[in-house]
Amino acid sequence: MHVSYDDFCAAADRVRSRIAEACRQCARDVREVSLLAVTKTHPVAAAHYAARFGLKSVGENRVQEACEKIPLGPPGMRWELIGHLQSNKARLATKWFDRIQSVDSEKLILALQKEAALIGKTLPILLQINAGDDPAKFGVDLPEAPKLLEYARIQPNLHVDGLMTIAPLSDDPDIARRTFSRLREIRDELRTKSGLPLAELSMGMSSDMDIAIAEGSTQVRVGSALFGAREST
Ligand SMILES: *Cc1c(COP(=O)(O)O)cnc(C)c1O
Repeated sequence: MHVSYDDFCAAADRVRSRIAEACRQCARDVREVSLLAVTKTHPVAAAHYAARFGLKSVGENRVQEACEKIPLGPPGMRWELIGHLQSNKARLATKWFDRIQSVDSEKLILALQKEAALIGKTLPILLQINAGDDPAKFGVDLPEAPKLLEYARIQPNLHVDGLMTIAPLSDDPDIARRTFSRLREIRDELRTKSGLPLAELSMGMSSDMDIAIAEGSTQVRVGSALFGAREST
């Protein structure tokens, strides 16, 4: 990480302004959109910056990396897993994370339920949906989403807060827009069918958060716009 705390504050102020402007453009209340600071690849200092600035949650994409940082992180910080999770890491993930956003299979749901029951935890989750129909992305395909939700909602130790998606990498903003509007539509459908609130729509990153907010995002996951470019891994 190459940014000082002062740099970080300036960047976070800019991100907050972008969120506020995007909300203003579509007449949404800025309090409907939370900011998840994505600290992956950065030292634990990044999470301390986020806490000092007043952010409540950070996102990580690798279980092993996060497990090493979380014990050294700021007290009271919420850690969310946003990267792909394999069932064989379900135990560690259940123990360390406050929410898992990347739930995309029955096998993983079963593993998380088992581990959460063992430690007596209710684990909040999001279902990751491949709303952009992108072969390069994890997430359940749109037509499979209702079945996955039915499976997840009956697990006593899991709580489905909502949905998450990642837009395909593209220079065309309409691709992201369509992906995000599809996620919102499927959420609305699932909400009607299931009677669950499914309030959280985790969508939008540094490059496309403005579009995501216009399409109904309730949480943007922002890394590089806060902490600078990541070294490639
Ligand atoms: C890395 C990552 C982000 C943040 O990406 P930036 O472009 O750095 O803002 C958001 N969501 C997921 C799932 C990620 O892996």
